[in-house]
Amino acid sequence: MPGEKPYEVVISGSGPAGAGLALALTAREPALAGRILVLEASSHPREKICAGGITADGVRQLSAWGAPIEVPAVPIKGVRLRFGDRWSDIPAPESGAVVVRRDVFDASLVRAVRDRGVEVREETPLLDLRRDASGVEVAIPGGSVRARCVVGADGVAGGVRRALRFPQGRRHVRLIVAETFDQTEPAESEGLFAFDFSCVARGVQGYVWDFPCVIDGRRAMSRGIFDRAPDGVRRRDWKGEFARALAERGVPPDSVIWKGFPERAFDPRLPISMPRALLVGDAAGIDPLMGEGIAQSFVYAELAAETLLRAGRRNDYRFREYHRKLLRSPLGRELRLTARSADTLYSARHFPFWISLLFESASVRKVVGEALAEGGGLSQRLGRITMAALGRLITRGWQRA
Ligand SMILES: Cc1cc2nc3c(=O)[nH]c(=O)nc-3n(C[C@H](O)[C@H](O)[C@H](O)COP(=O)(O)OP(=O)(O)OC[C@H]3O[C@@H](n4cnc5c(N)ncnc54)[C@H](O)[C@@H]3O)c2cc1C
Repeated sequence: MPGEKPYEVVISGSGPAGAGLALALTAREPALAGRILVLEASSHPREKICAGGITADGVRQLSAWGAPIEVPAVPIKGVRLRFGDRWSDIPAPESGAVVVRRDVFDASLVRAVRDRGVEVREETPLLDLRRDASGVEVAIPGGSVRARCVVGADGVAGGVRRALRFPQGRRHVRLIVAETFDQTEPAESEGLFAFDFSCVARGVQGYVWDFPCVIDGRRAMSRGIFDRAPDGVRRRDWKGEFARALAERGVPPDSVIWKGFPERAFDPRLPISMPRALLVGDAAGIDPLMGEGIAQSFVYAELAAETLLRAGRRNDYRFREYHRKLLRSPLGRELRLTARSADTLYSARHFPFWISLLFESASVRKVVGEALAEGGGLSQRLGRITMAALGRLITRGWQRA
């Protein structure tokens, strides 16, 4: 609105990426709090369709920002992997990973952001955006606000991406989630991140998950299916596959409400910044292999905070180094590796080979279990995985000889 102070940054969206960015900025520079505006189209607690699994690195990042998780969270004690009639449990009792309900979790993040003195305007979507020589003009209901720059943390359908015509890209991951209060889950699987890859044999590039959670104080299960939906691969009956999985778990498919939502899979070729604007979290694109995005959004937030503070110090908001910095960071290496290898890893032809290595080698299982519970992904463990897999292949060769 005319006469309003210009903000240093307007953050569009207050999910993990947007709230995380406000926390990352104020943890580094508390005096900046009054110069950050967070816009949120909805109001908290708002529904977010998500399984709510947070790997240990995400949990640690929140503590490092001085905003530890204080909402109900189911601790994860291990990972279960399944393919057809083979399955394996990988204990990780101290992993620190948890499952949260996104409505209460995201609301708690926003409370922490407000406690730092940052202004959060709910029910206030970013409607449009114009960049000029001195900053950005952000259109909101009833007027506009000015800032030196803007960050799109507004999820898969992002207003910033749309307003500034960032290329949309093509790959959208599909997920359906159904939450059940069923008692059918065997007791021993409590506290496990369970990933069932059986559907890969039938052409779905993904998995069915079973995560324990608590809904309104009651024990429940979040179950869903992740399907990469890659370009050029014929559309598979992923909904039928999920119905089959529910029935197999003793949950009549029509007894639960299914909710679907897309994700944006990261594409290293697409820009994630332009002068005066950055994208983070789902708006920029996340893990195309497993669809994990909460902890990754926190890593994006850290990188964006560094980039914004540096831009402010230099009064240079072109953000030319942001994309390159991301690609070279551990997160960028993971995103590149998973974007490159997902087709091969999930191919119905090759998947039985990969997964057999996992079932046969305790060392491969240990590293993959760590990656899934602790976070940080496969790229930083590639050497250990390769060595363990080679060891197993050599043993196989000896056993055959
Ligand atoms: C079914 C499903 C299950 C998943 N399970 C997991 C899981 O177990 N673990 C995990 O790590 N990840 C999971 N993910 C991924 C995870 O949910 C996302 O990666 C994560 O929410 C991304 O955070 P974000 O802040 O970028 O976006 P979001 O959480 O989508 O937040 C974006 C925010 O922006 C707001 N907004 C949108 N448009 C505007 C606008 N124009 N102006 C202002 N505000 C706007 C929205 O209201 C929203 O609050 C799952 C995703 C799905 C779909």
